[in-house]
Amino acid sequence: MIDFAYDILPGRVLFGAGSRDQVSAEINRLRCSRALVLSTPGYSGKAKELAHKIGQLAAGTFSGAAMHTPVSVSEEAVKAAQAVNADCLVSVGGGSTIGLGKAVALRTDLPQIVLPTTYAGSEMTPILGETVDGKKSTQRTQKVLPEVVIYDPELTLTLPADVSVTSGINAVAHAVEALYAKDRIPLVSLIAAESIRMFVRSLPHILAEPLDLSVRSDALYGAWLAGTCLGAVGMSLHHKLCHVLGGTFNLPHAETHTVVLPHAIAYNEPAEPEVMRSLAELIGGNSPSTSLYELVGRLGAKRSLRDLGMPETGIEKAVLEATQNPYWNPRELERESIRGLIRRAWAGEPPGE
Ligand code: NAD
Repeated sequence: MIDFAYDILPGRVLFGAGSRDQVSAEINRLRCSRALVLSTPGYSGKAKELAHKIGQLAAGTFSGAAMHTPVSVSEEAVKAAQAVNADCLVSVGGGSTIGLGKAVALRTDLPQIVLPTTYAGSEMTPILGETVDGKKSTQRTQKVLPEVVIYDPELTLTLPADVSVTSGINAVAHAVEALYAKDRIPLVSLIAAESIRMFVRSLPHILAEPLDLSVRSDALYGAWLAGTCLGAVGMSLHHKLCHVLGGTFNLPHAETHTVVLPHAIAYNEPAEPEVMRSLAELIGGNSPSTSLYELVGRLGAKRSLRDLGMPETGIEKAVLEATQNPYWNPRELERESIRGLIRRAWAGEPPGE
């Protein structure tokens, strides 16, 4: 029996190679004329290039975006926007830059045009995670949802192949958890399946030929689909674990998702046999958790939390935090099994009980 509620999120999406040339037209469409261009420090050259392309419609650049959206940086960016009298934001970058744009929009109501350059998916969600004194809290509000998203695969050509792999698995995680979400929606499940298909196909090619624009286009298309899933339905155990591990041990976002996902799938395998059969078809093999673990290995990404810098002594703390205020999950959280899951992920062992 089909039974769901779907709040379709508003927002305009442009997709295609060279579509960054549309930024000026989109600024005009929003009836704006003074854009503040946001980026990370490492991507500031590209941000300046984009500001130059926009010409008179660019009021300035701010290149202080950092992982996990520190509130201190957002407040600085708000001041920078006020100083140049900005009337819109253009965020060019990955989840860190997009998070900064959302944080500034929350405080100023400025409209956002976003050009994603990784596969993290934040651009399609009304979710903002912010950090104060190392503590991350997340909120869901339409105020942070970007008005316009411009996906230009040419911007992803410079994303290093290893970062592309972990960023891609980060996107796959959104799609996987959409398939077994409490509030799952048949249309969103179709979107999720297509996203997984795109990444399983494109990631090995990106590793071999990072400059192949058509494969980059497939992956970025998969990222849009995965972001749509993340914005549409609730996430479960996997996202809770990554939130806890990233926040508690300051682990890198996409790499943590890449290590944990096979283990989270294995935990949920007994509770969702039908979903797991579909996942196995998408990833290949009989067991989706084992197939994904093997795929991650073939793609050369790290498979252990130990290699990401988590201390073994942290396992107990992670178990406690992950089982306190858990997100809804298709299988009940059993502390002993969660301990086993985290220990295996820490050691880089194959998933399973
Ligand atoms: P990121 O934005 O931190 O980017 C990683 C690094 O890659 C940065 O140094 C960046 O400058 C560089 N980079 C990005 N694109 C590049 C490109 N095309 N070429 C060369 N270098 C490039 O990493 P991320 O994984 O995209 O984002 C992680 C952050 O996003 C986390 O803080 C996470 O919590 C957040 N996030 C939020 C949501 C949400 O819905 N709110 C969803 C996903 C991720």
